[in-house]
Amino acid sequence: MGKKRVTIIGCGVSGLSCGIRFLEDGHSVRIVAASLPPDTTSNVAAAYWYPYKVSPQDKVLSWASYSYKKFLELTKVPESGISVFELLKIFDHDAEEPFWKGAVRSFRNARSDELPSGYVCGFVAEVPRIETPVYMRYLMKRFIEFGGEIEVLENDLSDINEVSGENNLIVNCSGLGSRQLCTDENSFPIRGQLVRTTNPGLSRGVNDELGPLAVSYIVPRDNDCILGGTAEENNWSLDIDPDTSSDILRKCRILEPKLKNAEVLGYTVGLRPGRTEVRLELEDIAGVARVIHNYGHGGAGFTLSWGCAEEVIQIADSI
Ligand SMILES: Cc1cc2nc3c(=O)[nH]c(=O)nc-3n(C[C@H](O)[C@H](O)[C@H](O)COP(=O)(O)OP(=O)(O)OC[C@H]3O[C@@H](n4cnc5c(N)ncnc54)[C@H](O)[C@@H]3O)c2cc1C
Repeated sequence: MGKKRVTIIGCGVSGLSCGIRFLEDGHSVRIVAASLPPDTTSNVAAAYWYPYKVSPQDKVLSWASYSYKKFLELTKVPESGISVFELLKIFDHDAEEPFWKGAVRSFRNARSDELPSGYVCGFVAEVPRIETPVYMRYLMKRFIEFGGEIEVLENDLSDINEVSGENNLIVNCSGLGSRQLCTDENSFPIRGQLVRTTNPGLSRGVNDELGPLAVSYIVPRDNDCILGGTAEENNWSLDIDPDTSSDILRKCRILEPKLKNAEVLGYTVGLRPGRTEVRLELEDIAGVARVIHNYGHGGAGFTLSWGCAEEVIQIADSI
């Protein structure tokens, strides 16, 4: 297959993962983006491997399974910021086993003494944990070391054709930006607010997605804890809401009483790139450009990143 000149729109986890995969295959790659890390949604995420607010389920399972294996390999690279932790997911009702159970290397039902008061069942799974500020730095470094170029734009592109030029392939990884860039009404924000605290000695993640304290999750990291959160569809606000922050702290302290003495270090908010379903497909803009779209990963952009990048490469190889 001939080597391609690839332009990727977007420098979040999706654009960088695709960029690295194209470079590994010997193509030349330029990323163009209005914002670079640390000023992307990807940097806001907590984050851990977990298919959340994303569809369709069959494809999500395949992309997430692929990424899970890649993240396990990355645990051997200390500068990547990837490690594996136990996630305790809790329910106030009998719950079915999750569709992604087969993708993780260890999965068991939680013992009753592991459940906070008011919860009746749960499970414990080993999943990759991604320290996003560290991982995004690592991806940037890897992309540049492999010979990738990055161009920062003063403004958002308003038309994909603005970057067609001499390039024979464009990959659109613009996340929520695709709503405007592609006039895509199926894309919408899912607002997530977070609180960052000191880590009072926690190592296990906890998640109540549907129960009385939903949406609540605790992500202990090496030097801090990320507490969430919210998942507000069609809310575009990037302002920190102090009442929401208090509520996040209150709920997480019920789930994990050790957090009562944790010091608050900061607050963040980000807009997950929601979509009716992930858009990963080729569009041939007659006479202008071939575009592979890769966006709409909801609350699972990290979870799907390597699997989606691999499918983008397969599509590129086929044209
Ligand atoms: C609070 C919160 C918690 C999360 N937790 C997790 C988690 O635990 N696990 C997980 O897997 N995921 C999680 N996510 C979701 C994850 O962060 C996103 O799915 C992921 O970051 C999307 O990455 P992306 O590269 O597609 O988009 P982004 O990171 O948003 O990057 C988009 C890029 O495109 C550029 N761009 C956009 N529009 C244009 C334009 N018109 N012209 C030029 N450039 C443009 C931007 O400047 C940017 O560089 C979370 C998200 C939030 C907000």
